[in-house]
Amino acid sequence: MSLPDRHTFYNGKPRSNGSSGPTFQSIDPSTNKPICTIHTSSASEVEQAIRSANLAFPSWASTPPVERSRILLKAASLLRARNDELAKIETLDTGKPFSETSTVDIVTGADVLEYFAHLIASGGLNGEAFHLRDSAWVYTAKEPLGTCAGIGAWNYPIQIALWKSAPCLAAGNTMVYKPSEVTPLHAQFLAEIYTEAGLPDGAFNVVYGDGQVGSLLTKHPGVAKVSFTGQVATGRKVAGAAAGEMKYVTMELGGKSPVIVLPDVDVDQAVDGAMMANFFSTGQVCTNGTRVFVPEQLKTKFEEVLVRKMQYIRPGDLMDPNTNFGPLVSKIHYEKVLGYIKHGIDVDRARLLCGGPGRPESIPLGLKDGYWVRPTVFADCTDDMKIVREEIFGPVMSILTYSSLDEAVQRANNTELGLAAGVFGRDINQCHRVVKQLQAGITWVNTWGESPAEMAVGGWKQSGVGVENGRKGLEAWVRNKSTLVEMGGSVPTVFAKL
Ligand code: NAD
Repeated sequence: MSLPDRHTFYNGKPRSNGSSGPTFQSIDPSTNKPICTIHTSSASEVEQAIRSANLAFPSWASTPPVERSRILLKAASLLRARNDELAKIETLDTGKPFSETSTVDIVTGADVLEYFAHLIASGGLNGEAFHLRDSAWVYTAKEPLGTCAGIGAWNYPIQIALWKSAPCLAAGNTMVYKPSEVTPLHAQFLAEIYTEAGLPDGAFNVVYGDGQVGSLLTKHPGVAKVSFTGQVATGRKVAGAAAGEMKYVTMELGGKSPVIVLPDVDVDQAVDGAMMANFFSTGQVCTNGTRVFVPEQLKTKFEEVLVRKMQYIRPGDLMDPNTNFGPLVSKIHYEKVLGYIKHGIDVDRARLLCGGPGRPESIPLGLKDGYWVRPTVFADCTDDMKIVREEIFGPVMSILTYSSLDEAVQRANNTELGLAAGVFGRDINQCHRVVKQLQAGITWVNTWGESPAEMAVGGWKQSGVGVENGRKGLEAWVRNKSTLVEMGGSVPTVFAKL
């Protein structure tokens, strides 16, 4: 399949501008074949996109919330109507099975659009008013920020685009969005859907390219906020550039999250959770629970059940509804993950329980050039191993054993990252006690990975700044204005006549 070229999208349309500049390709990760040419946005195209967002801002900001809500709801219904078409694009671009993209990626994006549309129509942007004293009162307003930049990672392309643009637009801001250069195809579809839904030209714009293009956004004085999803190291650069211009930021960064299995656990349930926390999306999920802490006395049982269930992971043709495991997203990422798997065996010397280097055996011949790795489990891991310390962002689980719960919690927290954490156990009080002590912004009890629109999510420590979704997610796109009104007829002053 080959798709038409992608160009910078601003003021309501893709603009080819003569198309003589540099280009890059979107590659189908399952076959290593190019599917689309993308034209890198030039500095002047980025400028045009920001200008177009700046010009659209005043009128969009003063559109009543109920009217903005109606447009966003229309966009959500267009997304749902085109779910499968968009899911196919996401499957081609990311390498995720259609069984996943058609049930998760677009759906969870449209949910958030609906959530924020309903929230603003039902008073979510209202301020407060209170009497300060008999003669004075105070009222507050939530004002939009202006033009905001959204910069996305490659793993949940359309979901990330929607988790940023939905609250941004709902709050009355405009956006210039840069998808990851690895998975950029969703962006034009989303821009076109917004236009079709009635969003004014210029309110949502798309620029294409790598970090260089991203950095034009982060330091531009016409951009009021940067909402970034990506690696911690990139996040530091982005937040640094934005701080120079005193911009608002939201940072959604990486993790190395712990799963703590309690001694009284239903082992089947804990294994299912640990598998979701490591192999869903081929392990390319920021909240992955890659450090699985198992009580010493459960180690053998846990490993037995896990090995038995690993056979339910089914790599293969991505459009086959039974396929639930795809390739990694790109050649570079494939090499990185494979490097970690080899390091785990050769240097860390962890015990390889499943997987290892090489492609899954069941991959059909037509897909042999794709970026496939085997779902891999290391056992007898220790906290100092590189595979246990660093974010791999691939299907690599590390099992660690513990003897006391205090020790497990202390070791789980012994990381600079704090994105997610979870507990599996039958004693729900004990689960809550453990969750209370875990240093992470997103925590789960007896489940893993669900992130509904109503739930604010964001990392602690080096894993991020601020949250997305939930009521708090809307607050991240407004600034407060407080007004004190004096009705006493005289201004308090020290400059009165003696
Ligand atoms: P990345 O940091 O390499 O790139 C992210 C985006 O930043 C891309 O669009 C890239 O072009 C852009 N970029 C790169 N350098 C830049 C610069 N100097 N200025 C501005 N923009 C720049 O991340 P990635 O490899 O695409 O994504 C994987 C990472 O994202 C993982 O670490 C994962 O944990 C994280 N992630 C976090 C969340 C979350 O919600 N916390 C969600 C998804 C992914």
